[in-house]
Amino acid sequence: MSRKQHRVCIGCGAALQTEDPDYPGYVPASALEKEDIICKRCFRITHYNEVANVDMEAEDFERILRTVGRDRALVIKVVDIFDFDGSWLRNFPEYIGNNPVLLAANKMDLLPKNMNPNRVLNWIRQSAKESGLKPVDVVLTSARSGEGIGLLVEKMKQFGGGRNIYVTGATNVGKSSLINRLLHDYGEAGQIITTSRFPGTTLDMIHIPLEGKESLIDTPGIINRHQISHHLTPESLKLVVPEQRINPKVYQLNSQQTLFLAGLARIDFVEGERQPFVVYASNRIYIHRTKLENADQLYELHAGELLSPPTAEELKHIPPLTKTTFHIKKGEKKDLVISGLGWIALRETGARIDVHVPQGVGVGLRRRLV
Ligand code: GDP
Repeated sequence: MSRKQHRVCIGCGAALQTEDPDYPGYVPASALEKEDIICKRCFRITHYNEVANVDMEAEDFERILRTVGRDRALVIKVVDIFDFDGSWLRNFPEYIGNNPVLLAANKMDLLPKNMNPNRVLNWIRQSAKESGLKPVDVVLTSARSGEGIGLLVEKMKQFGGGRNIYVTGATNVGKSSLINRLLHDYGEAGQIITTSRFPGTTLDMIHIPLEGKESLIDTPGIINRHQISHHLTPESLKLVVPEQRINPKVYQLNSQQTLFLAGLARIDFVEGERQPFVVYASNRIYIHRTKLENADQLYELHAGELLSPPTAEELKHIPPLTKTTFHIKKGEKKDLVISGLGWIALRETGARIDVHVPQGVGVGLRRRLV
């Protein structure tokens, strides 16, 4: 069945389809025999009290956000603190009308121990402001450890006041995990969420009833094509996506030296004073230091083996490494960010750095987080 045939899920109203389990309205082909069909996501929420993540492309996502803009709502925007820039969703304020936005910076359990949460919060507030978003508040959360969830609930009550609450965000920010946390920690106890009623119906969205007439609404995530994760298999992703608190690694580099983050990024320190490059990435990713003059050859000989991921197989499909040059002026405190892979904190002594990443993967400089 294609997406064009319009049988819809009786739970959420999404058009049913059998092709993509991560897209709204997915049902296994065998389920189509039935008269009344509910999609995988509605099935899970009714039977297991659990939401599954579904994703969509930009156009559909904008359509959904506009719906949010027409409602009187509180919008929770979830971002991944580890991939803040990659998961940010630009143009967001355009779509959501005058509704208040509560920013949840998730995966705080990954941040190094010595990071001061207040500084992180200030940094997030400042970054949000620079990109034109004025959240009513920012909460650091961890769907995994449960940290910050109580505070998030408090803020939902404070700013929700009779409004529907929409949970939005890019794919992989932990939106489903966060909602499931809320369902489990605040569900049966009836403190805010009652999942006893069948989730409501609005196209592509799941309404989870709250105490009053209002709902907590799970919106599909938008797929972010700038992330490295789109080019890797689940096995490789286990090495690349941090599972545990990040231990920053310090490399004292002279100019004309290169760092490889496995075979996924090559960072050439072309010009500048000797300085530390502090790498914030998965503890499981292999980092290799070499001379710039040897870097081409090293990559040619060892990409797919020593420099892995990508594995030899993934290397056949991944776009070629493409170079971007960055100039950091004296006095500027910058992080070099590679979407989905992490960031490198740089000294303010000035530098020229060439970064090679698979074509299409986001790289850039930002105000230093730490
Ligand atoms: P969604 O696509 O936004 O719904 O994201 P998911 O809830 O499916 O989570 C994406 C990935 O991030 C999964 O591997 C989760 O286990 C992981 N994840 C979600 N929340 C957290 C968190 O608070 N901390 C960490 N370390 N990982 C998380």
